Amino acid sequence: MVAAPGGGKGTQGERLAADYGIQHVSSGDVLRAEVRAGTPVGREVAGYQKRGDLVPDQIVFDLLTPVVSAAAARGGYILDGFPRTVPQAVAAADVGRRLDLTLDAAVYLNVPDPVLLQRLLARARADDTAEVIKHRLDVFAETSGPLIDYYRDRGILVEVDGDQPPESITADIEARLP
Ligand code: ADP
Repeated sequence: MVAAPGGGKGTQGERLAADYGIQHVSSGDVLRAEVRAGTPVGREVAGYQKRGDLVPDQIVFDLLTPVVSAAAARGGYILDGFPRTVPQAVAAADVGRRLDLTLDAAVYLNVPDPVLLQRLLARARADDTAEVIKHRLDVFAETSGPLIDYYRDRGILVEVDGDQPPESITADIEARLP
C-alpha cells in the first residue's frame, strides 16, 4: 500500500488483512517496535522518526525482511509503508524474487493534502506535530510520484480515491484486486 502520511494505509491494511485472512505488516509499526525495545538500532530509528525523515534502507530491510518472509510463509501479507522509494522498491523486488515474495498489487490511496493534514493533527502520534507532518508530506511528495509510476509500469498499480468512508475504500480496493 502506497499513501501519504495520514492516507489510511493502517486502517485499510487492517481491513484487507482481516478480509483475506492474511497478515498486515506496517513498516512504521515494525520500526516503532524496535524503538520500544530500546536497542542501539532502535535509538537510531527514533531519531529519524522524530524528524520525519526516512530511516536508512539497510535498517528497514534488516528489520522488515524476516517479518515479511514469515507472513508470506503463513499465506500472504499486506505491506503498509514499504516500499516508500523507488530504490526500496527495486531492492525489494530483488529480495522478493529470491524469497518468492513478489507483489500481486500496489494499492495507492489518493488523498488531498488538506484532508491528510486534518487527519494527522487529529491523530496526535509523537511525530504528528505540525512541523514534522509538513516534512513527512514533503518527503512523500518527492518520493511518491516516481514510486507510483514504477508500479504503474509494472502493471500492478491499483489507484483508489482515499477520501471516502473506510468501508467504501475497502470495497473499491477489493473490487479491483487480482
Ligand atoms: P506515516 O505513513 O503516517 O508517515 P508510518 O508509520 O508509515 O507513518 O511511518 C512513520 C515513520 O517511520 C516515517 O516517517 C519514517 O521515519 C519511518 N518509516 C516507515 N516506513 C519506512 C520505510 N519504508 N523507509 C524508511 N523509513 C520508513
